[in-house]
Amino acid sequence: MVSGEDLIPRLIELYERIDRLYVSVAEVIGLQCEGCDGARCCTVDVTVHTAVEMLYLRRGFFHLSEFLREMVHARALAMVRAKEANPFGEEYRQSVCALNFDGRCVLYEFRPMICRLAGIPHWFVRPDGKRFEGSGCSRCEASGVSFSASQGIDRTPFYHDLALLETEIVRCRGAKTIPKTIAELLVAYSTGPNVASPKDRCYSGANRVGED
Ligand code: SF4
Repeated sequence: MVSGEDLIPRLIELYERIDRLYVSVAEVIGLQCEGCDGARCCTVDVTVHTAVEMLYLRRGFFHLSEFLREMVHARALAMVRAKEANPFGEEYRQSVCALNFDGRCVLYEFRPMICRLAGIPHWFVRPDGKRFEGSGCSRCEASGVSFSASQGIDRTPFYHDLALLETEIVRCRGAKTIPKTIAELLVAYSTGPNVASPKDRCYSGANRVGED
């Protein structure tokens, strides 16, 4: 049986590897997030795909003060409603992530992998062998340092290791995780049962992650 207690330490170890590599590459590029409002990275589209990341973000959410949780919930709910009304409308598209307050992520320590990798040129190889490349954020490009995707971060091992964690959950649960945007998750954390651990024993330990 898989529990959050088993998986979250492994997720944290994965995050630490990502963070170390990110810092070393960012230093070479001279990229600093300080002073950036994050609006282009922290978009409404940021989506969490894996149950273990949902659980860890949930843990962070319940570490916030009640006051901040209510603020975050109100912002997330407004976003979800705006998306329901018109996913292409300005009200939704121009929002930034509900966790971004004045350019800073209030759940920085708990942020998902995609947020940890943002901003730096990167490449990865899919299991079918196809290679994809991506550029850095606008600030990275504006730095003037010539830095190709292939000199940037190889995301392949990180995607692979996160997929392994997710596979353990899917095997145990017999169902795939339904991806959710950060706003959708935050609303679910506030108002419903643990979205990442609905009723099944695979998550007996994970059910407690928001309460510790
Ligand atoms: S979780 Fe944090 S880092 Fe990620 S998009 Fe939201 S505010 Fe930005």
